[in-house]
Amino acid sequence: MPKIHANLPASTPSHCWLVALPGPLRQLFTYSVPEDFVVHAGARVRVPLGRGYRVGVLWAPTQTVSDWVIKPIESVLDAEPLLDAQLLNCLAWAADYYHFPLGETLLTAFPPSLRQGDALQRAALRVSASGVVALANESIRGARQKALMQLLAAHPEGLPARDVLDFPASVRRRLLELGWVESFDLDVALTWPEAVPSGVPTVAPVLNHAQAAAVALVCASLTRFAVWLLDGVTGSGKTEVYLNLITPVLAAGQQVLVLVPEIALTPQLVRRFSQRLGLRPAVLHSGLSDAERLRAWLAVRSGQARVIIGTRSAVFQPFAHLGLIVVDEEHDTSLKQNEGFGYHARDVAIWRARALNIPIVLGSATPSLESMRNLELGRYQGLSLPERAGGAALPKIYPLDVRQQRMQGGLSDVLLAAIEQHLLAGGQVMLYLNRRGYAPNLLCHACGWVAECPHCDSFMTWHRQAQRLRCHHCGHEQAVPSRCPGCSASLSPRGLGTEQLEDVLTALFPGFGIERLDRDALGRVGELDRRLARIHSGEARLIVGTQILVKGHDFPGVSLVGVVDADQALFANDFRGAERFAQHLIQVAGRAGRADRAGTVLVQTHHPEHLGLNQLIKEGYGSFARALLQERLEIGLPPLRMAALIRADGRDADAPKYLLQTMADWLAQTLGDTLVIWGPVAAPLARRAGRFRYQLLLLADERRTLHDALNQLEAWQGSRRPSGIRWSIDVDPLDMA
Ligand code: ADP
Ligand code: ZN
Ligand code: ZN
Repeated sequence: MPKIHANLPASTPSHCWLVALPGPLRQLFTYSVPEDFVVHAGARVRVPLGRGYRVGVLWAPTQTVSDWVIKPIESVLDAEPLLDAQLLNCLAWAADYYHFPLGETLLTAFPPSLRQGDALQRAALRVSASGVVALANESIRGARQKALMQLLAAHPEGLPARDVLDFPASVRRRLLELGWVESFDLDVALTWPEAVPSGVPTVAPVLNHAQAAAVALVCASLTRFAVWLLDGVTGSGKTEVYLNLITPVLAAGQQVLVLVPEIALTPQLVRRFSQRLGLRPAVLHSGLSDAERLRAWLAVRSGQARVIIGTRSAVFQPFAHLGLIVVDEEHDTSLKQNEGFGYHARDVAIWRARALNIPIVLGSATPSLESMRNLELGRYQGLSLPERAGGAALPKIYPLDVRQQRMQGGLSDVLLAAIEQHLLAGGQVMLYLNRRGYAPNLLCHACGWVAECPHCDSFMTWHRQAQRLRCHHCGHEQAVPSRCPGCSASLSPRGLGTEQLEDVLTALFPGFGIERLDRDALGRVGELDRRLARIHSGEARLIVGTQILVKGHDFPGVSLVGVVDADQALFANDFRGAERFAQHLIQVAGRAGRADRAGTVLVQTHHPEHLGLNQLIKEGYGSFARALLQERLEIGLPPLRMAALIRADGRDADAPKYLLQTMADWLAQTLGDTLVIWGPVAAPLARRAGRFRYQLLLLADERRTLHDALNQLEAWQGSRRPSGIRWSIDVDPLDMA
């Protein structure tokens, strides 16, 4: 394994180069460079591998290894480096830090089409003379081929290849082979429209005292690295602070990156930014087509896109001249990728800000314990917005004891009365239940049979509208049995999901309009926005939803929030459970209330005396979180200690556990007591998609110790790949499921 922290020369003539290729190996490949090839670190090449060819990225020159037959690079795809040294270094750091193969890591910085080896730009396609004949004769077979031919025929001047990427490569290739389509050089500059979107431009409010102070502090040091933790209660005007910081950075000719949690990225948010800033931001998220992705990537790289709003992977974009990074809702776990390359976008963003010597602002109403700790240690600078902007009051939260209360569809009489009262007073009411579907279980009352996922240790959720049973862990689906497979008695639902809650509320409060916000409701493109529009217009007065509700949506008309079931989260078995619960509760409560009326939040629980819950309600998130942090420090958990989780799974029940036990023994022997090793234990979901899952938690006081341990472990394990078992390393794990 070569040292990958090396400073990268921009261009060094050398006989052999290391090339990063996709694949599971944490290793770079050596190729020779033919005499007349011009090579740069960060440019793509096509190289032979095995019996085929692969697209890889030039990494650094290297010494020839004498006893190897080194193959030559087949072709250089880019005359210039596509990624600059700073981004390459960032990717190298991330590969190292998160213990993920460098080749795979590097390729995440490219849009899919470039990963596959497409030319960067300018290549264009048009229908050839024989293609015109083929079209006229209707001799084109295959619907996709025909569709592409018709599209190209409609553009006789030619279309950039990147605009037809939504057609499979095989279709494009076949038409070129047949000679019906020809490629040529289209010499057009890429343009990123800066046009202000339609709509009434919004006027900036006058900043209040706390906002102005925060803006002044950051603006005083816009030209150097600092991490600012903007701790502002919900509705305190954090977004206004961002906008006021972005303006001077744009005026200085620099770009701004705004990272947001996955689901918060709605057209509303984008519209707010574009109308205020008077430009079109580049928006990056997982739902883009290949062509859109490439277009945005090019615009970011050329500097034409000046404001980039995106979910976590946007942190690896090739910015031309980045001047500021904002991470909104920095506590949100969707900023960390859970599978594969397990990076945390906030932490990568901090790395980039440091390398570029620019400020980064982390905003949240419920900062993560990690960030609170870093603030305490003086690594971050604090900014605080303790009050809501525009004079609105914070909502009041009350626990609602539901012990021995009559419940209808999961709702107590007190909550039902409150809902009715708020609806009649003209308010909107929001109910939070973090369980989608109609019912989490379907069971037989006669014999006790329960619908279980055949592949996981979990129950199947009944989705009544779709008439399916679905496993929320592996995606397995099946038809709903009409009778018990065991005794033929009839089946009944157990437990409450959002679909059922929607039905219950529709029956109890007809005529008020209801919208449900959960993952099932978002299947179709634009559905979330349609539903949000009906809520904002007041057409829907009742809102039922899961976690999606808590992510950055504002519902100013909501005067009552009901938390249907707090108990599940109060007793989570994950050590981060209490932190998550508090964040969700405060965020969901934060949707309520505005200037002319404070919101009310009612939390249904069977444990109204719960200490944490009461502290959170009485003293607020800050005080609750500080106590939690103190607890973590005393037990020696993150953020005091550094953590890594080693996961292993396999079809054989014992093999993954045995592998982890071997690793634990070896680590204990090799590294002694610098490392705390917990486990192996079965994962909370002990079997998923037919695989048995175990995990091993490693803790160390020093980051270095932990990383050395992981490196040694990988080196030791590298030579012995147990068949049928997968194992992976998750650094700074957030999700222990
Ligand atoms: P946050 O991002 O902290 O939740 P927002 O920036 O979305 O808060 O602001 C919440 C609401 O308060 C928005 O409707 C916004 O327009 C308004 N607002 C923000 N700052 C001010 C201000 N200084 N004066 C009046 N209204 C403001
Ligand atoms: Zn039965
Ligand atoms: Zn399953």
